[in-house]
Amino acid sequence: MPSNEQTAEQAKTFADLGLSPKVLSAVTDAGYTTPTPIQAGAIPYALEGKDILGIAQTGTGKTAAFVLPMITRLEKGRARARMPRTLILEPTRELAAQVEENFVKYGKNHRLNIALLIGGVSFDEQEKKLERGADVLIATPGRMLDHFERGKLLLTGVDILVIDEADRMLDMGFIPDIERICKLIPFTRQTLFFSATMPPEITKLTEQFLQAPVRVEVARAASTATTVSQRLVKSPGKAWDKRDTLRRLIREQGDELTNAIIFCNRKVDVSELFRSLTRHEFDAGALHGDMDQRARMAMLANFRDGKLKLLVASDVAARGLDIPAVSHVFNFDVPIHAEDYVHRIGRTGRAGRTGKAFTIATRADKKYVDAIEKLIGQSIEWHDGDLSSLSTDEEDEAPRRGRGSRAAKSEKPRGRSRSSKAEAAEVQAPAAPAADETAAAEDAPVKTARKRAIKADNANRRDTPRSGDGGARDNKRSRARKDDLGDAPVGFGDDMPDFMKVEVKV
Ligand code: AMP
Repeated sequence: MPSNEQTAEQAKTFADLGLSPKVLSAVTDAGYTTPTPIQAGAIPYALEGKDILGIAQTGTGKTAAFVLPMITRLEKGRARARMPRTLILEPTRELAAQVEENFVKYGKNHRLNIALLIGGVSFDEQEKKLERGADVLIATPGRMLDHFERGKLLLTGVDILVIDEADRMLDMGFIPDIERICKLIPFTRQTLFFSATMPPEITKLTEQFLQAPVRVEVARAASTATTVSQRLVKSPGKAWDKRDTLRRLIREQGDELTNAIIFCNRKVDVSELFRSLTRHEFDAGALHGDMDQRARMAMLANFRDGKLKLLVASDVAARGLDIPAVSHVFNFDVPIHAEDYVHRIGRTGRAGRTGKAFTIATRADKKYVDAIEKLIGQSIEWHDGDLSSLSTDEEDEAPRRGRGSRAAKSEKPRGRSRSSKAEAAEVQAPAAPAADETAAAEDAPVKTARKRAIKADNANRRDTPRSGDGGARDNKRSRARKDDLGDAPVGFGDDMPDFMKVEVKV
């Protein structure tokens, strides 16, 4: 296997990598001068037609590491109807859309036909694009197989296959689909395979479908960027206390906070927190798997454009999103999977910028915090005293229920403060549409996206299972670990209004 370190060392500029002049010119226009390590390591081999096993996270420049050599290689040959020349598989719609943006940016000097097959968009439009002949087909696995089964797509012309974010595909239950798709594409293809981590299932997949791959590993998946300052913030375990802690933290950051992503473990908590923040007049939006595609894209666009300051999200919904310059990440919940911590805080401190990551931790989170510290190989400092400085009363009086479990409703502390009561009630209250209607014109897209998010939240509350990425079909294939950890609330969940608890004499 060639030594990639040496290649990375030698390749000082993009011109050293062997890319075509037209691609180089687009890279220059994009303002990039130096290839990132994954680009320097992978591009020369990708141009030679070798299979690549890239172990890299988002934020390392890995998209350009496959897009640039692909465009160079696509300069020869033409697309035929229903026979795409290349196929890129992405776990989520947003990632697929991001890859499309990259093709547009770096392919500005080419006339590439790009087709995006993702759920939540009409089949007709997508079929027309396939009919025209696609140089580049970017798809989520489920939607792609739907088209294939409808007979609208032939995979025998695919010369380059990209499997991106393979470990996320695994998390989302797409591996059987990936295996099936790999078998539908000629054996002579080139495969470019990317994953942030290499769990055994992924290693098996690479052994099965890659041929003598060049392995390019740029950073250990468990490493966190040194430009991110990480802090733990103690909080009593109840949701309203945590929301209180979060609000305090956000306010404390003042102008330093330009924009932030707030992560929750479960999509139902994304909804609750989003509503609560909005009620408290924070400029917030939400991103979760139950929102339709348009709402998700609009919400994301507003956040990217700086029209929204806070974005509440679940892991799946936010996975791999490239949002430049996020000043803060807040973990409203300590992630259960330690690796998610790395992914979450990787949203800030990107491309050499500094960032801050705060993780709200309760007593019950100790073992998850320990697992994170073990994974990242460092202990995380406490922001204002550790859990031992927390009054034991709150926790002892009302022992914490299972993570996110809404089962033991009767355990609500009796002497709750007024503000807590107010908040519990307000979280449950529906968002006021009147406020949206009177919004200033320039705010309209934000408000509309927010309205859709609220609508989706309501659908979510009714427990309608919907896809988090590639449409209903993708959802069917998903394993348990989506962005909804734990049980769905029963009845009022944690937010039972107090009047419901008034004793009724029969
Ligand atoms: P990715 O890992 O593909 O999600 O890329 C992360 C970010 O890095 C994106 O905003 C890219 O536009 C940016 N980027 C990609 N290549 C380079 C480069 N060579 N120099 C600086 N930024 C880059």
